[in-house]
Amino acid sequence: MRADVCVIGSGAGGAVAAAELAEGGLRVVVLEEGPARGVADATGRPRDTLPRLYRDGGQVATIGRPPLMLPLGRGTGGTTFVNSGTCFRTPPPVLERWRAEHGIDGLTDAIFERVETALGVAEVTPELAGRNAATIRRGAERLGWSGGYLRRNARGCRGSGVCAFGCPTGAKQHAGEVYLPRALEAGAELVTGARVERILVEDGRARGVLARTAAGPLEVRAPTVVVAAGAVHTPLLLARSGLGRSPALGRNLTVHPATAVWGVFDDPVDMSRGVPQSYYVDEFADRGFVFEGIAGPPDYLALAAPFRGDELRELMLAHRHVAQCGLMVTDRSRGRVASVLGRPVVRYDLGAADTSTFHEGLLRLTELMWAAGARRVILPVARVTQLRDGDSAPLRELALEPRDLKLMGFHPLGTARAHRDPAHGVVDADLRVHGTRGVHVADGAAVPGPLGVNPQITIMALATRLAHHLLNKEVPACRS
Ligand SMILES: Cc1cc2nc3c(=O)[nH]c(=O)nc-3n(C[C@H](O)[C@H](O)[C@H](O)COP(=O)(O)OP(=O)(O)OC[C@H]3O[C@@H](n4cnc5c(N)ncnc54)[C@H](O)[C@@H]3O)c2cc1C
Ligand code: SF4
Repeated sequence: MRADVCVIGSGAGGAVAAAELAEGGLRVVVLEEGPARGVADATGRPRDTLPRLYRDGGQVATIGRPPLMLPLGRGTGGTTFVNSGTCFRTPPPVLERWRAEHGIDGLTDAIFERVETALGVAEVTPELAGRNAATIRRGAERLGWSGGYLRRNARGCRGSGVCAFGCPTGAKQHAGEVYLPRALEAGAELVTGARVERILVEDGRARGVLARTAAGPLEVRAPTVVVAAGAVHTPLLLARSGLGRSPALGRNLTVHPATAVWGVFDDPVDMSRGVPQSYYVDEFADRGFVFEGIAGPPDYLALAAPFRGDELRELMLAHRHVAQCGLMVTDRSRGRVASVLGRPVVRYDLGAADTSTFHEGLLRLTELMWAAGARRVILPVARVTQLRDGDSAPLRELALEPRDLKLMGFHPLGTARAHRDPAHGVVDADLRVHGTRGVHVADGAAVPGPLGVNPQITIMALATRLAHHLLNKEVPACRS
């Protein structure tokens, strides 16, 4: 195939770049390793959808202390197909730091507005948010903590509670629902089931890519390549193509480590009804942690609760009375991605500072659950699995260690980060791989550092900025 631009990956970064470039008049080919996915694939049942919608059935994990699950989407829309739809702009202090330390500029309000308009971002209503969110809100308000309903990209959402297993109503405006159709309408070609093995470079200039498909090898000839395979796979693809020789390649991984706490209440919460992720508490953002109420179907609780046997059975029978809230820490720990026998291996150890932030965050979240009226609080902590009757002392007095914690990472970033200096970044401030012409990165890998908020809008904004840079055009006013 021949194109002006070959885009690798069709998630938050790839789909956005493809749409903007195709609408700008360029011939675009998008190669996506996973399958084409649509509403029919989103049955809402975890046991069907985990193997179909997630890479390795959602079982990608890190090695390190503690090992953590790192779920990644695979297929059209990338991870946005299975995400919760929360939309935060990059916080202004983060943009300021990037400008001063990395030389990255130009993520303007016009870009964020353009992305948010395309995705139909709006604040969740209390009715749609459901009683899990109301419970978190009640606790926060009784304590006088700052919070609010989240902004999301879900037009006509019905609060079915299964975002992480694909949206069965088609409400979620993920990248595969919004941006890929726009790219195709503007003439882009999409090949699914095409795993890019190598980016072809001659005399320091991109010539195209080589991919593997079920039908055999596929070569796309293109003078510009936009890599958007995600923070785990992008650095490996660059490395096996002999690109990105910066010492930063594969390093600086942040995952925004997350865990959850459960409260058991007298009144029903019914957390499987309503928007799963709909209320946040940012009272402690400057201490490095935030809360986001995160609910879901009973399977969710059964998978995550720290119990087995009779204890788990008893909890599951009380499922209607359980509320759940997530805790996410802006990590100072850094991991790395490497390839072993052609497979990605992710190493991530939680440092002492982040462990201490988790301890503080868990105590605060427990306080919130007590304030909301919980009788019992269930913790993701191996040595203190539950607290009763308002007594947080066992958790407070614990010398918390990383191995006590059950964590997940939903937001991997930074493994081909942007920095004006090749000693510190894999791509430059315009997201071009240092030392080459025509190879750019437009996904979570290029994000220069942790955000403290969910990253999809940041990634989409960076991809929008890159596309207009390649088109040599200003970002136009919003699409309606
Ligand atoms: C359960 C869950 C909930 C989340 N909720 C939120 C949320 O509410 N808000 C938010 O902002 N963020 C959320 N996120 C994170 C967000 O979805 C991701 O940060 C974002 O999608 C990452 O974008 P990306 O372009 O870097 O990669 P992805 O979206 O993961 O896309 C990468 C694509 O590249 C493909 N690919 C990989 N290697 C190759 C190759 N060699 N050749 C061809 N294709 C390849 C993959 O199959 C994949 O489709 C959530 C994540 C998870 C797992
Ligand atoms: S809660 Fe809304 S966005 Fe999430 S799966 Fe249900 S209908 Fe879709």
